[in-house]
Amino acid sequence: MDDLKEVHEECGVFGIFQHQDAAQLCYYGLHALQHRGQEGAGILVSHQDHLSLHKGEGLVTEVFNPDKINNLHGIHAIGHVRYSTAGGGGIMNVQPLLFRTMNGDMGICHNGNIVNADVLRLELESQGSIFSSSSDTEILGHLIKRQKGHMIDRICVSLDQLDGAFAFLILLEDCLYAVRDRYGLRPLAIGQLPNGSYVFASETCALDIVGAQFIRDIEPGEIVRVKNNQLLSRIYTQKTIHDQICAMEYVYFSRPDSTIDGINVHTTRKNAGKQLYYESPVDADIVIGVPDSSISAAIGYAEASHIPYEMGLIKNKYVGRTFIQPTQELRNQGVRMKLSAVASIVKDKKVIMIDDSIVRGTTSKRIVSLLKEAGAKEVHVRIASPAIKYPCFYGVDTSTLKELISHQMNVSQLCQYIGADSLAFISEEGLKRSIHFKKEYTCDLCMACFNKQYVTPLYNNEFEHD
Ligand code: AMP
Ligand code: SF4
Repeated sequence: MDDLKEVHEECGVFGIFQHQDAAQLCYYGLHALQHRGQEGAGILVSHQDHLSLHKGEGLVTEVFNPDKINNLHGIHAIGHVRYSTAGGGGIMNVQPLLFRTMNGDMGICHNGNIVNADVLRLELESQGSIFSSSSDTEILGHLIKRQKGHMIDRICVSLDQLDGAFAFLILLEDCLYAVRDRYGLRPLAIGQLPNGSYVFASETCALDIVGAQFIRDIEPGEIVRVKNNQLLSRIYTQKTIHDQICAMEYVYFSRPDSTIDGINVHTTRKNAGKQLYYESPVDADIVIGVPDSSISAAIGYAEASHIPYEMGLIKNKYVGRTFIQPTQELRNQGVRMKLSAVASIVKDKKVIMIDDSIVRGTTSKRIVSLLKEAGAKEVHVRIASPAIKYPCFYGVDTSTLKELISHQMNVSQLCQYIGADSLAFISEEGLKRSIHFKKEYTCDLCMACFNKQYVTPLYNNEFEHD
């Protein structure tokens, strides 16, 4: 069981229905979602009476080549990019998962984390199910198989048993289902191509890349079926639905050009930068952002403070995210390979360095010392999210209590630890205001990793103790 707790699915999904180049377009879509997961990728296509799959470990461009795409004959496709914590990897957990049954094939891919997975799995195993992966996703396949009646009813009854965060795409031979959890924790959007084909994606940036027009977000607790190119929508649960999208989607995960629940990600980050200035101003010569996810917030801080924005850090684009490395030593090395300070810009300057978040503290500590080594006179760190003090059980690897530096240290201890001249985080209220800047916006946000207010029961995903 311990193994299972290691598995987190913080991924991206893409689906397309009724298009002669389904696999090719799915490949483009996954490429646009690559930032959501770099450990594995897969595409499953449906052609008349069977589904075929290609998946592998690595980046989308490593898993697929033109021959592999051309061999995926089919007019409907779903695809997945995967990001897991150490221990949760392995080809068996790379998605989509394909189930072959006497009643036909079914493929499933998933972004999120099911909090009652262990409970359901124990129940299913005690009733005779045998699992071939440690991924939560497989549970849904088993639950669906056990129900009776029309497929959509079987899926709805099964989904209603799941608790947690999920965006699922389910592909059968002649239809595709797209689902969002009842809290709306993970995003999922619907688009349409000029020829009428429907497209589904974790983020709107993947709709844009294939030339699809955004239609709408799938609602929390909603299942959408596309069959014969007609959309059918249903709410699959009677349980109260609160729209509580993950705040970290805006802070870090999503691409700045994506729009989630009607709100552009870059705009929210820029707002957060401005808000950071209003809350924690500091006198300095330049503002710099940690590329790429903090550039928008740095632009906002510079605009509000009238302190010039400068390119003080350069990123080597060909190194993966440092966070993904399993050991601290490798993560330290990763940060060094990834970023360089521009001495001619920062030398003798008082620098305000904006980052989107601090998780383990590795990145900030290393960057402060890079800037100081490059001659910066002072480095004032401003963080565009509140301090992350609690783990996420909804599919984002914000790590364990022990590793979360803000769980271990208060702001002044942390400031000293990272070697900064000052340190401040945006307030929860400030971040909320940056995201909900439109008056008509009424949903809530999940902010549990900042404030411990988890939107679901935690079942047996308990905190480990320090
Ligand atoms: P750390 O070095 O552990 O403090 O990581 C902080 C950096 O990781 C920030 O600069 C973020 O851009 C990035 N980050 C934040 N949350 C995550 C996450 N859940 N997974 C991967 N990277 C993250
Ligand atoms: Fe997002 Fe944090 Fe909530 Fe997890 S706990 S869903 S990372 S806001």
